[in-house]
Amino acid sequence: MSIYLDNAATTQLDREVFEAMTPYLLQNFGNPSSHHGHGRIVKNAIENARITIANLLNASPNEIIFTSGGTEADNTAILSSVRSHQVKHVITTPFEHHAVLHTLDALKNSGEIELSFIDTDNRGNLDLNRLDNLLKGNKKALVSVMHANNEIGNLSNIELIGEICCSKGALFHSDTVQTIGHYRHDLSKLKTHFIAASAHKFHGPKGVGFIYCKDGVQLSQLLHGGAQERKQRAGTENIHGIIGLAKALEIAYKDIDEHQVYIQKLKSRMIAKLSDQITDIQFNGNSAVADKSLYTVLSVSLPINHAYGDVLAYLDENNISVSGGSACSTGLASHVLKAIGADVYRNTIRFSFSKYNTAEEIDYTVEKLSALYKAIAA
Ligand code: PLP
Repeated sequence: MSIYLDNAATTQLDREVFEAMTPYLLQNFGNPSSHHGHGRIVKNAIENARITIANLLNASPNEIIFTSGGTEADNTAILSSVRSHQVKHVITTPFEHHAVLHTLDALKNSGEIELSFIDTDNRGNLDLNRLDNLLKGNKKALVSVMHANNEIGNLSNIELIGEICCSKGALFHSDTVQTIGHYRHDLSKLKTHFIAASAHKFHGPKGVGFIYCKDGVQLSQLLHGGAQERKQRAGTENIHGIIGLAKALEIAYKDIDEHQVYIQKLKSRMIAKLSDQITDIQFNGNSAVADKSLYTVLSVSLPINHAYGDVLAYLDENNISVSGGSACSTGLASHVLKAIGADVYRNTIRFSFSKYNTAEEIDYTVEKLSALYKAIAA
C-alpha cells in the first residue's frame, strides 16, 4: 500500500481538471494578447475562468489577478501595501508562511517598515486585544494574518480581524492558501483588502494561483513588462494553469459540504485511534479541536525522542508520505512549533488529508506508528 497523507504540501491533480486543461496545451495554443482568432479563444477562456472564480467567491472579476501561486500573491499584497499605500507598520503572527514572514523580514531589514507580532498562547490562539493596541499608533498599518496555519492547522477569526482593521483604518491581508477550495468564502462580506490562493492545494495544477485585491485598492506590480492582467501582473499568462485553477475551484465547491464531513471523519478517526494506541500522545496547537482547526490537517506530537530515530523516515520506508516539523534548533526547526513552545524532544508529524484518502489508509498508518512506539517503549 502507498499512502499519501501530505495534502497540505500539495494535492493530487483531479482528472477532470487535467481534462479541462489539455485543450489549452494542444489545440488552443494562441497568445491571449494577440489580436486574432487564436489569441481571442484563449483570452476569452481566461476571462471566463476569472468570472467562474469571482462568482464562487462572491467577488467581482476585476478583483481576481492571476499569479504563479500563493508565494507571489503574498509578496504582491505586502509589497503593494508598502509601495502604493505608504504602509510603515506591519502587524503579523509568528506562524505565517515564509512567503509572508521572509518578505516582511526583508522590508524590516531595509528599514522600510516597523514589524510587530500579535501575542499568542501555547495553543497558538491570537490575542486580538493586542492587535487593537498595536493599531493605536498613527503610522499607516497593514495586518497580515493567515486564515489557517499550514503546519498545525489553527484557524484564525479573519471576520473579526477584518472588522478591527476596518475600524482602525488599517489594510488587511490574509493568506488563505490553505482554506480556498476547502471552506466557503464570501469576499463581499469579508473585510480583507487582499487574499492569496494557490491551485495545487485543492487538486489543481502547481505554479498558478491568484491574488484577490478589493475593488479600488491599488496593486503595485512585482513584474514589469507587458500589459497582461490589466497591467497588474506582466508576463504571458499560464493559460492551462488558469483553466485548471478555475475548474479545480468549481469542483471543490460542488461537493464542499460532503468533502468536509468525509475528511473530518478521517481526521477524527485518526485522533481517536492514535489516542487509544499511543499513551501521552499530544496534538499541537488547536489541531484536535474540530471548530478551531483545518479539517485537513492533524499535527501530532509523539512521545518518541529524536534520539530514537526519525519517525518520518520510518513511515517513508513503509510507503507512507507525511510531513515533519521539529521544534529543535538543529536542522529542520519549524518556526511554527517554536512559536508555540513545542517540546523539543518529541517528534512531530503533520498528517494532512484529502478526499482521496480512505479509512483503511488511516488504520494502516496508525498501526505502523503504534508498532514503532511499542518497539521503542519495550
Ligand atoms: N501560504 C501557505 C499557508 C502555504 O501553505 C503555501 C504553500 O505551502 C504558500 C503560502 C505558498 O504557496 P505556493 O506553493 O503556491 O507558492
